[in-house]
Amino acid sequence: MAVKITDTCISCGACIDECPVEAIVDDDENPTGAEIYYVYADKCVECVGHHDEPACMEACPTEDCIVMDV
Ligand code: SF4
Ligand code: SF4
Repeated sequence: MAVKITDTCISCGACIDECPVEAIVDDDENPTGAEIYYVYADKCVECVGHHDEPACMEACPTEDCIVMDV
């Protein structure tokens, strides 16, 4: 499993530096061509941040933007 960034992403950039394994790329590097940030599922380790949530989810200001990709 991994997390996934959905199209409510506002490309604010808050998540990218929080990822310990550099699984997140910005909208310019999104391999799907979508204008949102992107998580490489094969790199994501579903890390846990300070509040028992993945670090990127904690940093993201947009509700339900980053979700578990099951
Ligand atoms: S859950 Fe953790 S490892 Fe996965 S993309 Fe978010 S910050 Fe990176
Ligand atoms: S923190 Fe959330 S809204 Fe900001 S770039 Fe990352 S996924 Fe998109």
